[in-house]
Amino acid sequence: VKRHPPGGGVGPGVFRGKISFDDPVLHGWRWPCFEVTGTRPGPHLCVMAGVHVNEVSSIEAAIRLQACFAPETLRGSVSILPIVNLPALYQYTQYDCPIDGRNINFTFPGQPGGTFSEALCHALLFDWAREATVHMDLHGGDLRERVSHFVMYQRSRAAADDQRREALAHAFDADLIVGFKPSLMSSPGRAITALAAVGRDAVMSEAGSNGVVDENAVHFHVGGVLNVARSLGMIDGPPSAAARRQVVCGEYLWVECPAEGLVRLFVEVGQPVAAGQLLGVVRNPFGAEVGRIQAPADGHVLWCVTHPVLRARDFVLGLGLEARPTPR
Ligand SMILES: [Zn+2]
Repeated sequence: VKRHPPGGGVGPGVFRGKISFDDPVLHGWRWPCFEVTGTRPGPHLCVMAGVHVNEVSSIEAAIRLQACFAPETLRGSVSILPIVNLPALYQYTQYDCPIDGRNINFTFPGQPGGTFSEALCHALLFDWAREATVHMDLHGGDLRERVSHFVMYQRSRAAADDQRREALAHAFDADLIVGFKPSLMSSPGRAITALAAVGRDAVMSEAGSNGVVDENAVHFHVGGVLNVARSLGMIDGPPSAAARRQVVCGEYLWVECPAEGLVRLFVEVGQPVAAGQLLGVVRNPFGAEVGRIQAPADGHVLWCVTHPVLRARDFVLGLGLEARPTPR
């Protein structure tokens, strides 16, 4: 990482400026970055947002978090990158990076000298966050979707690693916690998976909707990051308790729209559903039903579309499948 002005981030203090990466593919791009280094040694926490630029509650959280850390009270260091998908920012691009049409969220670990998104993903994990004790990726609610308050982490085949990552996820006051199955590590995409594949700790939080800054969602992201910092001993104070149920899910299903038309959903995010339950219907422009959306399994609604107009096979919602019974 090249810092402008050079010297930022070295020794206790605050760096507030733009950083660039060495990869020639990323030449000319400079990312706003905030770094605070404590007067006492400790872990390094990396927090990024804006992989999806319309998920503004997470971007707002990444901005507000900057005021939550100070060199005098921090053990270790925190680096915050509020807008990852910089080329998309003023184009309001949904999901993708406009330079190469790739969804950065499914491009990790990336590769040096690849496309823009590939080069960026690699630079983020192995340059900017190369020394991160914990990496956190904040998301939630692109222009046509609503997400529950949920957190994802990647399970591995090492129980101790899984316990540590699940504990990080529990730092968030989440409706749902999704631990992805270990087989996903052979084909990464999300940063949490690419990092777990090399034995590192990461979580990804989701809260927000429709490109709107929502105070509950902002607090969810901010509170989760601060709880992680407390659990790592970086800042003082007891972690805030969870009020939501934190149902742990072991699998993530994408549910497709069965036909093109206008979708009407009968469920809300965070809601439990039973296998076979009617989740919604698709109607044509004359109001006639042309498709029915049914739950493929018992689960919990992680997110759903908010814009009714969909094509056949577009994703209409995501379902988390409960990993084990939760105390009620
Ligand atoms: Zn996202």
